[in-house]
Amino acid sequence: MEKVISALWSVPGANTLEVYKKHGGYEAAKEVLSSWTPEKLIEHVKASGLRGRGGAGFPTGMKWSFINRGSPKPKYVCINADESEPGTAKDRYILELTPHLLIEGTLICAKAIDCHHAFIYCRGEFYDQIAILKKALAEAKAAGIVGKNALGSGYDIQITVHSGFGAYICGEETGLIESLEGKKGQPRIKPPFPAVVGLYNCPTVVNNVETAAALPWIIKHAPEEYKKFGTEKSGGTKLLSISGHVNKPGTYEIPLGLPLSEFINSPNYGGGVWKGRKLKACIPGGSSVPILTAAEVEKTNIDYESCAANGTMLGSGGCIVMDETTDMVHSLRILGHFYSHESCGQCTPCRTGTNWAHRILCRIDDGEGRPEDVDELLKIANNMVGRTICPLADALAMPIKSFLTKFRSEFDKKARREKAA
Ligand code: SF4
Repeated sequence: MEKVISALWSVPGANTLEVYKKHGGYEAAKEVLSSWTPEKLIEHVKASGLRGRGGAGFPTGMKWSFINRGSPKPKYVCINADESEPGTAKDRYILELTPHLLIEGTLICAKAIDCHHAFIYCRGEFYDQIAILKKALAEAKAAGIVGKNALGSGYDIQITVHSGFGAYICGEETGLIESLEGKKGQPRIKPPFPAVVGLYNCPTVVNNVETAAALPWIIKHAPEEYKKFGTEKSGGTKLLSISGHVNKPGTYEIPLGLPLSEFINSPNYGGGVWKGRKLKACIPGGSSVPILTAAEVEKTNIDYESCAANGTMLGSGGCIVMDETTDMVHSLRILGHFYSHESCGQCTPCRTGTNWAHRILCRIDDGEGRPEDVDELLKIANNMVGRTICPLADALAMPIKSFLTKFRSEFDKKARREKAA
């Protein structure tokens, strides 16, 4: 399969302007900024089937079309590079290996909504990636690619790289906007949505790094060319990380619709479960999505619809593989620790629920559980789902519910303090 996003990852010096341009870099942005109308751009991207690659999977062209370009207010693009979901490590490679691809994609996003100042919001811990991106941006500014009359197109566009401070919740789009405005990174109540009231109360689009990075290829080709990599409803390619108990952990670009079992076992991707062991379970889309049993993995393809049909989500694309020796109580405890630590504390079901669930998981795992703990966990999870400002509470509640539904006996056994056989 031709690579859309990772084509230059193995090319030495691909993070420099010189090498990037040698491979056709900035040709798409030049054409778009010079001669495409926002309408043409939006229709082209809609026809390609590109959906947001940050987790929600919302169609990109449609998201752009919600912006009132006739508004007298400035319009803003925020690129979400706050990649923090456990199991997901894809955007960091784009920042590190092909930062100009992201800058070019950002220019294209900007033209779609008549934006003249875009922001790239990076995860605070990405020290090296931020330095690489800033260097690339300086190169692009010096070469007249970003700034006044960008690429000689007559279009003025500034890009600012902003470093977050390491909070997971700033990856939620309104938390990101609050943080960018210099406030505490706490998600906003919606509506209004950012398309209407976003950064500095202006119309704003937040696009994921991978989404933006797919745009230069899509512009250079007919939209159907991109769509045909994937399925009818999930067009294109996707970067997917694979980690845990596999022989070849890493990040791979795959055609959407690829069978999940093939992704885990193929020598081109995960290379199979390590140490000759059997697969026990897999979290396909980053730690916040429901877990699949080995039998469910066999029925699931890597696309939005197949994941949904099998009770999970494609999410941000972080596939975590667990072999037959995995302790599910301990695994869920680790997730509980992460989400309780990252709760921003605004909503009671999240602030209290994530911490309460984590405390119960700790005592079960430490052999100090009570028989009623498992039902208590389920009750807490049910009281968290859909009752909060942002999806962080669900991000722990959904794994709790799926772990307990599919591996209940392990939790009951530990909660009753039974010795392992
Ligand atoms: Fe904050 Fe949690 Fe509420 Fe999200 S769900 S706004 S993280 S308290």
